[in-house]
This record gives sequence, C-alpha cells and structure tokens, in this order.
Amino acid sequence: MTRSDIAIIGAGIGGLTLGLALRRHGIRSRIYEQAPELAEVGAAVALAANGIRVLRDLGIGSALEETSAVPTELVYRHWSHGDRLAAHPVGAWYEDRFGAPFWGVHRAHLQRALAQAWGTADLHLGKELTGLCRQGDSTELTFADGSSTTAGLVVGADGIRSRVRVSITDVVPVYSGTSGFRGLVTRDDVPDLPDPDAVQFWLGQGAHLLHYATGEFINFLAVLEGPKRWTAPGGVANTEDGLLAAAFRGWHPAVRTMIDAVPQGPQWGLFALPPLARWSNDGAVLLGDAAHAMMPHHGQGANQTIEDAAVLADCQNRFEDVHTALAGYERLRRSRTCQVQRSSWVTSALLHLPDGDAAATRDRRLLDLVDDFSWIHE
Ligand SMILES: Cc1cc2nc3c(=O)[nH]c(=O)nc-3n(C[C@H](O)[C@H](O)[C@H](O)COP(=O)(O)OP(=O)(O)OC[C@H]3O[C@@H](n4cnc5c(N)ncnc54)[C@H](O)[C@@H]3O)c2cc1C
Repeated sequence: MTRSDIAIIGAGIGGLTLGLALRRHGIRSRIYEQAPELAEVGAAVALAANGIRVLRDLGIGSALEETSAVPTELVYRHWSHGDRLAAHPVGAWYEDRFGAPFWGVHRAHLQRALAQAWGTADLHLGKELTGLCRQGDSTELTFADGSSTTAGLVVGADGIRSRVRVSITDVVPVYSGTSGFRGLVTRDDVPDLPDPDAVQFWLGQGAHLLHYATGEFINFLAVLEGPKRWTAPGGVANTEDGLLAAAFRGWHPAVRTMIDAVPQGPQWGLFALPPLARWSNDGAVLLGDAAHAMMPHHGQGANQTIEDAAVLADCQNRFEDVHTALAGYERLRRSRTCQVQRSSWVTSALLHLPDGDAAATRDRRLLDLVDDFSWIHE
C-alpha cells in the first residue's frame, strides 16, 4: 500500500484539515463528499488553543483571525437572577497561558478558509459512500451515484453517522436524553445582555444556555433535557414552535430576549459515541466525530478532530509502513479523546442541576475550572 493512495470520506472540518495536513508533508489524498456543494450547517464553533495551533501551522490562521471574535471572559451565571457564579479571564490571558488564542468563529468562515486552502482538485462532490470492499491491498469504494473507485487507505472523516465506521465496528452513537437549539442574534437584539463579549453559560434546572460572540453576531446554544427518546432520523427535527421559549419561561430577561429574538431553529438531538476499542482495520481508519463524537459541553468536538488530522498526517509521514502509522495514530489519540468524551458526558448533568446543595458544590468547583481543564487546551 503506498502512502499517496489515500481516499478521505467527508469534506467537513476533519476531512479538509487532514487533506491539508497530508499535503504539507507532500502526501497526496483525494476527498469524497456526499453534499453537492460545501455548505456548513449550524451557526458557530468555538476554536480553542489546541485546535488553533494546528490551523495556524496549516497557514489558515490569518484568514480566520479576520472574521473571529476573542472572548473577554468565561462566565457562569445563575438562570434567574443572573448573578455571576464564577468567571475566568480569556483574551490575552488565555493566549499567554496556552500559546494560542480562543476564537468564536462562524462555521461558514471556517469551512470557507479550509475549502479555499484545499482548492477544487482532488475534491469530489456529490459522492455519497455506500459501500467498501477490501480485496488484497486495496479497497473498492462505491457511491450512491453508481460510480466507484479504489484506495489503499480509506479515512472515515464522515461524521457521527459514519458509513466507514460500519466496516470497523458495530458500535453506534447513544442519545444523551438532551437536545439543543442554535441561533444567531445581533448585539442590538439583546441590548440588556450583560457581558455580550464573554463566553457565557446560564445554568438552571433541566437546561442551560451558552453564548459567545463570532464577529458581528452572538451565537447561542440552548440545551434542554428531553425528549426522552429521539426518533427523528439524522439527529435533527423540526419541532413545534414555542417549545424552546416554553423551556426557558421564567429565566432571566436577557436569556428570554435572546431566545425570542430569532425564529426557533431545528431541534438537535445530542448524541455521543461510547469510546471505541479500535479505530482502524486493514484498510480503513476513523477520524473526528466518526471516531469519538462527544457532547458539545467542552466545545472540543471540532478541536479534537483538528488534532486527529495533524497527528494522523504526522504518523503517515513518519512511518513508511501504513499499518505502523495507523497503530501510532491510535495510540496517540484514543486515550486523550476518550478522556474528553467522558468528561463532556459527565458535564451534561452538572449543567442542569436544580438550585440547592449539589448546585452550590458545582459552583465552588467552577472556581477551579481553568486548572481542572487546562489539560484539554495545552
Ligand atoms: C450543537 C453543537 C455545537 C458544537 N459546538 C462545538 C464547538 O463550539 N467547538 C467544537 O470544537 N466542536 C463543537 N461541536 C462539534 C463539532 O461540530 C464536530 O465535532 C465537528 O464538526 C466534527 O467534524 P467531522 O469532520 O468529524 O464531522 P462533520 O463536520 O460531521 O463532517 C462530516 C462530513 O462527512 C460527510 N459525509 C457523511 N457521510 C458521508 C458519506 N457516506 N459519503 C460521503 N460524505 C459523507 C458530511 O456531509 C460532512 O461534510 C458542536 C457540535 C454540536 C452538535
């Protein structure tokens, strides 16, 4: 198997970053994406130092910096009276401590920066992978449009519902019992919002709201308990209007103003993968959400995906033998991503505690948050 015979499935954050990281080492790859054009779903993404370091190395730091926002602080607030429960500096302090900034970025800008850096050669759109068949040193890939190709190594960067993963393991994503609504508002929409330039969590019983700025907009993610079972295919549902506003009735006026400022968007079921025992087989390997989809509460899904891409490309470059490269990649990535997955799962319940002793204990722990979670950003 040659190192340049690599087919990447999925042109999301992971697939494009991997393609660029391989190219930096002089290793050619081809990307196959099911969508007919590259358009990001969702509003914004928070990029942390661990992800930004990689993106800067790949030369797309300055394109992103122009359109991103640096938060002033990380603030936790009480759901009804809005008091600050804990606050930590971000801005220059964060960059000094972790060696790179923290940015709120519009997903479309990130997607565009990656896609422009990649270009159109070796990008095959409208190619939904439907099957893989390993024969000797090569895998035949078949697509929904009836076409096919072969590759020495297939990288599944095809997200949480990965088709490539099916050829490696039968583990499937688990529904967390929580769901989220995303939205983008302007500063004028929320004139009474305290600290609009902070990353801010509002914590209450059975729900929380997170927001941060991304250039001209403020992006929010409102998360609530339920529904008990998720039945909509693909993890996204168009729910009846008013469900989101009803879940936050009685919350602080700034939270309600934010939610009421824009039409209710689709409801996202929040799913995560249990840690996988293996990420690869003879001819295929997983990366990003396909390998370790996690809850969004540490803002790390994309950042860990970007780390995966850098490490997989480095291993491909360092080891002539592809199997040694894959073993090295798994060894370097599995335990770290597993730790972040577990931590983000546990955090979910902590963000939704009712007022009382347990919430007071959590609030005291929030004061040490930076030291407790610096291992993620370093
Ligand atoms: C509500 C929410 C908020 C989040 N906020 C943050 C955040 O602030 N910070 C952060 O770091 N992360 C965040 N994340 C997580 C982050 O979005 C993901 O971890 C990240 O997008 C994973 O990238 P990926 O490339 O692995 O997968 P994806 O972005 O899902 O890309 C997969 C690509 O593969 C393509 N594809 C799928 N199947 C096929 C097929 N069969 N054939 C061909 N192509 C296929 C898809 O069309 C897509 O383009 C959040 C997630 C959610 C749900």
